[in-house]
Amino acid sequence: MNTVTGAMGLMTIDQREEAILAPYATKSRESLGREFPEKEHHYRGPFQRDRDRILHSAAYRRLSGKMQVFTGDQGDYHRTRLTHTQEVASIARTLGRALRLNEDLIEALALFHDIGHPPYGHAGEDALQECLKNHGGFSHNQFGLTLARELENPYPDFPGLNLTREVLAGQDHRAHKDSPIVPSLEVQLVDAADSMTYDAHDTDDAVKLAFVTLDDLSELSLTGRLLRDIQQKFTSADPRTLRRNLAHDLIELQVTNLLETTTARLEQTDFSSSAGVQEARFRLVISEQLRREKSELEEFLYDRVYRHEELIRVRSDAQHRLKMLFLHFCAQHQSLPERNEQRVQTIGRPRAVGEYLASMTDRYCDQRFDEVTAAGD
Ligand code: MG
Repeated sequence: MNTVTGAMGLMTIDQREEAILAPYATKSRESLGREFPEKEHHYRGPFQRDRDRILHSAAYRRLSGKMQVFTGDQGDYHRTRLTHTQEVASIARTLGRALRLNEDLIEALALFHDIGHPPYGHAGEDALQECLKNHGGFSHNQFGLTLARELENPYPDFPGLNLTREVLAGQDHRAHKDSPIVPSLEVQLVDAADSMTYDAHDTDDAVKLAFVTLDDLSELSLTGRLLRDIQQKFTSADPRTLRRNLAHDLIELQVTNLLETTTARLEQTDFSSSAGVQEARFRLVISEQLRREKSELEEFLYDRVYRHEELIRVRSDAQHRLKMLFLHFCAQHQSLPERNEQRVQTIGRPRAVGEYLASMTDRYCDQRFDEVTAAGD
């Protein structure tokens, strides 16, 4: 149990959570703990410590050099994997505070959720999956767990970050989407915030980078409705004002919808614990209309943005670089940095090479490719 005592007579973590959180929230004192037991911290709760461990990890810092949808060559203003993660954490905390869920757990889950992404986003993931298809495959969600359990090593006493089972369960849920286990509301909420965030910011970035126009978006149900409202409010709004307000209103509408829909449903229940929510298989949902409108927007983004010829080219170039580097490092023994060579002993060369490549930023991947191909000339 969490016996953290309040410094200088302030509230303990347990007292604070008891006073603020809803009965259905995950409480620190109910945590199932860590794989390697540790003494509790005297003023930070377990999920606060997890949040800090993730924030201070090398894998988290590398997110600044990993693309979300658009690459560093395409400008300086669009989202990176890091700023996406920060937006998810911010929106998830807003939702969590309104629903009186555990914000510390939510923030830890949000900062962690994309930590296993390889260079070049889903293109990189698909390339590594192909390289490793006969060696267990590759998924960024599973790699997030490997980073947290084995590869990050800030502590001398145990491998990994030794996160609580609640944070690892959240990532495990992402890695095993077909699992019958219904996760905690905090885990579900971060998933919902992820979707709200990328729908809003991918739309915003795609207009700013001229992949699509506001006129295109006015033909879709959700963005069309919001654009008409904005034009009514600001009758002489220029395109930049329209775009910025659209991104804002897309988030506002989705957050409000989830809060209203969920509050109405939670009022009909009398959950007394987080476990009760999971046993009852309660799921956070948005309204049916918004779900349909989001699907329409996501299909549009897929066809017009993610599969745009410019991104297809980025995708195939990145996949070529990763596959070529994979073959190179598999063939050349002792070619990896020392700690990656050590992993060969436990997981075999192909997977150790996969981990090395997955840990790279986009820029470092390009740099290694240039070095390896120059040396081969
Ligand atoms: Mg994400």
